[in-house]
Amino acid sequence: AAKAKGRGQLALFDRALDAKVQQRRRTEQDLRVALLEGGLRVHYQPVIDIATGRTTAYEALVRWDHPERGMLPPDEFLAIAEETGLIVPLGEFVIRQALTEMAGWKGNFRLSINLSPSQIRSVDLLPTIADALAATGFDPSRIEFEITEHVILQADSSATATLDRLRASGIKIALDDFGTGYSSLSYLRRFPFDRIKIDRSFVKDLTTSASSRAIVSTVIALGRSLGMQVTAEGIEDRAQLQILGELGCDEAQGYLILEPLAASELDRVRAGLGADRGDGVLDY
Ligand code: C2E
Ligand code: MG
Ligand code: MG
Ligand code: MG
Repeated sequence: AAKAKGRGQLALFDRALDAKVQQRRRTEQDLRVALLEGGLRVHYQPVIDIATGRTTAYEALVRWDHPERGMLPPDEFLAIAEETGLIVPLGEFVIRQALTEMAGWKGNFRLSINLSPSQIRSVDLLPTIADALAATGFDPSRIEFEITEHVILQADSSATATLDRLRASGIKIALDDFGTGYSSLSYLRRFPFDRIKIDRSFVKDLTTSASSRAIVSTVIALGRSLGMQVTAEGIEDRAQLQILGELGCDEAQGYLILEPLAASELDRVRAGLGADRGDGVLDY
C-alpha cells in the first residue's frame, strides 16, 4: 500500500510538473506571436536630478499587452525569453521602439535601456543598435545601457569587447541593481561604468534602518571617488528622497516621481508641465 501511495504521489508530482512545463511552453508560443504581431509595448519612467528636480533620463521598460492576461510586467515573461533566446528579438524591438519614440521628444535627457546577459552575448546586438541609431538619428551619447552584475559575471571576452565598443561609440553603461549580487566591488574594478544604480531594496528602509543608510552613503561616496554618477531606484516617499539628497545622491527614480508610462501618457504629463524643453520639474 505504501508503495502504491508513493507511486500515486509521484504521478501527482509528474502532473504538476507537466502543467508547469506546458504553461511555460504556452507562454513561449504566445510570446513568439506577440513579437510577430506587435503585442509588446515600451513604457518609460523618468529619472530626476535630485538637486534641481529636473528630468534627466527616461528608462525604457518592456511590457506585454497580453490578449487575455492584460498588461504583463517583465517578471512574467523575461526569464522565459532569456531561456529560449527570444530575448534577442525582444531586445531588438525595445531598442528600435524606444529610439523611435524618443527621437521626436524635445529636451536634453538620456534614454536608458536594459540589456540582459544573452543580449550582450548576441552578435546581433551591435548591428541592431547601429541600425536603430541610423534610422532615428538619435545621438549615441544620450543612450545609456543598464546591465546587472549577472552580465559581468557571465561575460566572456567577446561580451567585454561589445561593452568596450559601445562605450567607444559614446554610449554610456550603468551598473543596475547594485548591491543585490555578491562581489559587486570587483565588478566596479573590471569595467568602467558611467553610473551605479542603487537597488531599491536599500532605498526601501532608508528611513528606518541605519545600516541601509550607511550602505547607501558608502555607495554614493564610492561612486563619487570612482567618477561614476549614482542613481537610486524605487523612491516611494518624500522622506527617502530627502535623505538621498542629504547623502549627496545624484539622481532618483521611483513611483513618488512617476510610474512607468506609455509614451502617449507621458507626453500628456510632459505637456502638463508646460516645459517646452521637455526636461521640466515634475510636481511630486
Ligand atoms: P530594473 O531595470 O531595475 O527596473 C526598475 C524596476 O523597478 C521596474 O520594474 C520599475 O517599474 C520598478 N519600479 C520603479 N519605481 C519603483 C518604485 O518606486 N517602487 C517599486 N516597488 N518598483 C519600482 P519592471 O518594469 O517590472 O522591470 C523589472 C526588471 O525587468 C527591470 O528592473 C529590468 O531588469 C528588466 N527589464 C525591464 N525591461 C527590460 C527590457 O526591455 N530588456 C531587458 N533585458 N530587461 C528589462
Ligand atoms: Mg534598469
Ligand atoms: Mg534596477
Ligand atoms: Mg531590477
